[in-house]
Amino acid sequence: MDTQKNPKDSQKQKLPNWFNSWFWWLILLLLLVWNFASYWPSTKASVSVPYSTFIAQVQAGNVAQVKITGNDISGTFVKPILWPTASAKSAATQQPGNNTTTAPKATTKTKKSAPTEYGKFETIFPSVVGDPALMPLLKAKQVRIVAANPPSPWIATFLIDGLPFLLLIGFFIWMARKGAMGQAGGALGFGKSKARKYTTEDVRVTFDDVAGAEEVKTELEQVVDFLRSPQKYHRLGARIPHGVLLVGPPGTGKTLMARAVAGEAGVPFLNISASEFVEMFVGVGASRVRDLFAQAKSASPAIVFIDELDAVGRRRGAGLGAVNDEREQTLNQLLVEMDGFDERHEIIVLAATNRPDVLDPALLRPGRFDREITMGLPDLKGREGIFHIHVRDLDLAPDVDIHTLAMASPGFSGADIANLCNEAALMAAEKSHQQITMSDFEEAQDKIILGGVRPLLLDEHDRKIVAYHEGGHTVVAWFSPQADPVHKVTIIPRGRALGVTEQLPGGDQYNVNKRYLLDRLAVMLGGRTSEEIVFESITTGAENDLVEATKLARRMVTRWGMSELGLIAFAANESQPFLGYEMAQGRDYSEATAARIDAEVRRLLEDRHQAAHRLITEHRAKLDKLARALLAHETVGREKLEEILGPRPPAPA
Ligand code: ADP
Ligand code: MG
Ligand code: ZN
Repeated sequence: MDTQKNPKDSQKQKLPNWFNSWFWWLILLLLLVWNFASYWPSTKASVSVPYSTFIAQVQAGNVAQVKITGNDISGTFVKPILWPTASAKSAATQQPGNNTTTAPKATTKTKKSAPTEYGKFETIFPSVVGDPALMPLLKAKQVRIVAANPPSPWIATFLIDGLPFLLLIGFFIWMARKGAMGQAGGALGFGKSKARKYTTEDVRVTFDDVAGAEEVKTELEQVVDFLRSPQKYHRLGARIPHGVLLVGPPGTGKTLMARAVAGEAGVPFLNISASEFVEMFVGVGASRVRDLFAQAKSASPAIVFIDELDAVGRRRGAGLGAVNDEREQTLNQLLVEMDGFDERHEIIVLAATNRPDVLDPALLRPGRFDREITMGLPDLKGREGIFHIHVRDLDLAPDVDIHTLAMASPGFSGADIANLCNEAALMAAEKSHQQITMSDFEEAQDKIILGGVRPLLLDEHDRKIVAYHEGGHTVVAWFSPQADPVHKVTIIPRGRALGVTEQLPGGDQYNVNKRYLLDRLAVMLGGRTSEEIVFESITTGAENDLVEATKLARRMVTRWGMSELGLIAFAANESQPFLGYEMAQGRDYSEATAARIDAEVRRLLEDRHQAAHRLITEHRAKLDKLARALLAHETVGREKLEEILGPRPPAPA
């Protein structure tokens, strides 16, 4: 009994796998074959003869036995007869009276078919006219008679016509039920996780391909070591984190790093983007998660990588309607799977997000993504390393200096740098350069930072306004000791801007002080102030400056405590993307405080506006000179600026 029970159990467990996917297809195929076969002319070892031939054979004593089923008569001959193979029927109808044991000679139309010997025959009893002489004849010739009931026509019709349809209907009902039950897993593969399994051979990426993330590599070293030799950790009873969350802005190499971990450890890499979990069928997400982890368990030790975790991992209960049900189910399933790891699991779940603030707190609890690793924008040394990786396959001219390139690209992410290198190569190809030169890199950089050059026809007056606007930014920046130095200024329209004042920070800045921000606000307002002074009116071109300046001022007041309101951070959830969440939580300060914040922001902006006003009025002559230079040359670089504006005031210590 036991031996029988076990295979059955395992069969039942396997049901979701094989039963779902191809069992039904097999059934359908069999039905098709059945249908086909029932219309196929049957090829039998017996021959179909006319009734008269049958009677003649009986009279000749050549029939040993007959079987009568309704109107069908079949039986065996004593001696086999010769009968033409092909078109036996048409031959027979032409020779109804033929009663020889050899083939009919006058097979006019169907000649050339070699006669074959048949030991069995079948024929049809002429039931309409009847043949009362048949039974006496059979008895006289001592033929063995077997009678059978004709098959019930109802059963026959049902079997042949009805059953396939019933099965089809059953199939569709089953599909619909599956869907409704929220596990459309299987039949047509809706629920299959899209996690592509990268095997060890596929992941060739190693830590050497990721530059400028040394601390991250150190932190992940342990994960790699665990995946390489899990036994060591099990023996010591060490608990390895289930989940590691990589956090950082887009393009900082989170995906790359996850693949590098798999490559270093030499384990399978199952990768899925969280947005793929959520699709049009309800319940698909949850079944995908289940499937993904089932795959991982059978491949362990393995790495599961969930990209853009925030797509499913957003705070639950944050929406205004019930539209989140699907996502919440998926998230719940993910939590269940992660809790389901036992002590000896050998699966590490890596996830990446650039919005850790929106993640559901439940995801970050111990046992889930309890380790968070930040991948920030690369610093100078990191950028240099990334440049080196991405120019590996490029044909560089000798004048290309990686250090200078890295210096000139603060705030670039790894992806930006990869893009820059590619743009430079494209630029060189476009100009049919033999090798990629430094000027190709510079041009590519301008294109990326400022957008492509935009052909735009401006009349003389508009150009003048733009020249004074950009000149205003430049003059304020030049004479504000803390502001970032101006690298160049141009009135060539690029991207969405009519002109650009390009400032380059001296080094990487992790922390900025209040005086720097105040100067920066003044620079932002400088363009508008200049228009005000020179033309005594303001154009809409200054709109974006004002928006950005207001944002910065508000942040200074509410987040960084840089105002009269003092040391307090308001609006910690400024970046909360969920309308519903904020409405539910409410503001954590009163209307009166809100009014004071607004007043403080306005005061700050007004103060900075006056500072810009003072600087521009003081250096009005230089501004005019700069505007003329801009109108003449369109772009003014660093050296020319020094010539026009004179030396910059030294930064106070
Ligand atoms: P993320 O997942 O953080 O958005 P990706 O890993 O997709 O970023 O990075 C995109 C591309 O940028 C990578 O394929 C790689 O070419 C390049 N890149 C990003 N960061 C680095 C880095 N630290 N070192 C080398 N290349 C990098
Ligand atoms: Mg990514
Ligand atoms: Zn401006």
